[in-house]
Amino acid sequence: MPVQCSSCAKKRAVLKRPKTGHSLCKECFFFAFEEEVHRTIVAAELFKPGERVGIAASGGKDSTVLAHVMKVLNERYSYGLELMLLSVDEGITGYRDDSLETVKRNQEQYELPLKIVSYEELYGWTMDAIVKQVGLKNNCTFCGVFRRQALDRGAIMLNVDKICTGHNADDVAETVLMNILRGDIARLRRCTAISTASEGDGVVPRCKPLKYAYEKEIVLYAYFKKLDYFSTECIYSPNAYRGYARTFLKDLESIRPSSIMDVIHSGENLSVRDGVKMPVQGMCGRCGYISSQALCKACVLLEGLNRGLPKLGIGKHHRLHGKLLSQEPLTEKEEKKLRAAEF
Ligand code: SF4
Ligand code: ZN
Repeated sequence: MPVQCSSCAKKRAVLKRPKTGHSLCKECFFFAFEEEVHRTIVAAELFKPGERVGIAASGGKDSTVLAHVMKVLNERYSYGLELMLLSVDEGITGYRDDSLETVKRNQEQYELPLKIVSYEELYGWTMDAIVKQVGLKNNCTFCGVFRRQALDRGAIMLNVDKICTGHNADDVAETVLMNILRGDIARLRRCTAISTASEGDGVVPRCKPLKYAYEKEIVLYAYFKKLDYFSTECIYSPNAYRGYARTFLKDLESIRPSSIMDVIHSGENLSVRDGVKMPVQGMCGRCGYISSQALCKACVLLEGLNRGLPKLGIGKHHRLHGKLLSQEPLTEKEEKKLRAAEF
């Protein structure tokens, strides 16, 4: 027997909400999903009227749903925001070039301006070239560090006040687990924050309006709205560690659907004991980007790539790395030693 929508009691239910278990018709699900994002935005005061907001758009389901919902809510509730799309082209043939085509279509569908910044223009390296040099083991470290800076640089070019990203509840819960498992207290403290304050020049505040949206519901929303998104995985994936955290969380979720929210709440409420050393943020001596070291991570990784020593920023710290980064010339013997340590 067809089940009626438990909200409007008029139409047939087409889905059971993973988050609440309610059987809903399409329209009531859309409304419930959008209202939850609206409540998240209002409760955390994510935006102020008149702000220019860059939506980090990859063409994937999360950022496509984010762009769509932000546009809907901005109109429905007169947020008064000027929205635009900001994409990063990592230079991954067969993946990012195709997903960027999706973003370009989204730009027309949603009538939002679009800015694309590329690793090649910012760093002189594409991910294709980086993978050729470093292989498939640490590629995501390079990619993640470069993306963070690329988004900031793109945001500055667009002159936006804020960037919003499509991170969903599953992503946040995974990150909490990963940081606990790695004992990364500094990141654990930051990762559940729904928004970051401006950390200084060159770093644009970020926020996550979909922080409490389940990935399963994002997929349902995109599917029933027939949104145009790109669903292929990066050819240089998987990020193995995150993959394990993801599988673990999915297993937990199948037994107890509230696991995702439970892990987020745990992360939000864990407190850091006094006396735990937190990194002090300063400025990179080379590019001026925020950094707790003399050089930011992106500059160290780039130095390694440009010198053909990709382990510089990721491998075990070698005593000669410090010398090299402080721009002291290495003797021929030292240079040989360092190259030998690469293999
Ligand atoms: Fe970059 Fe790794 Fe993500 Fe691919 S999977 S886009 S290489 S971070
Ligand atoms: Zn730097």
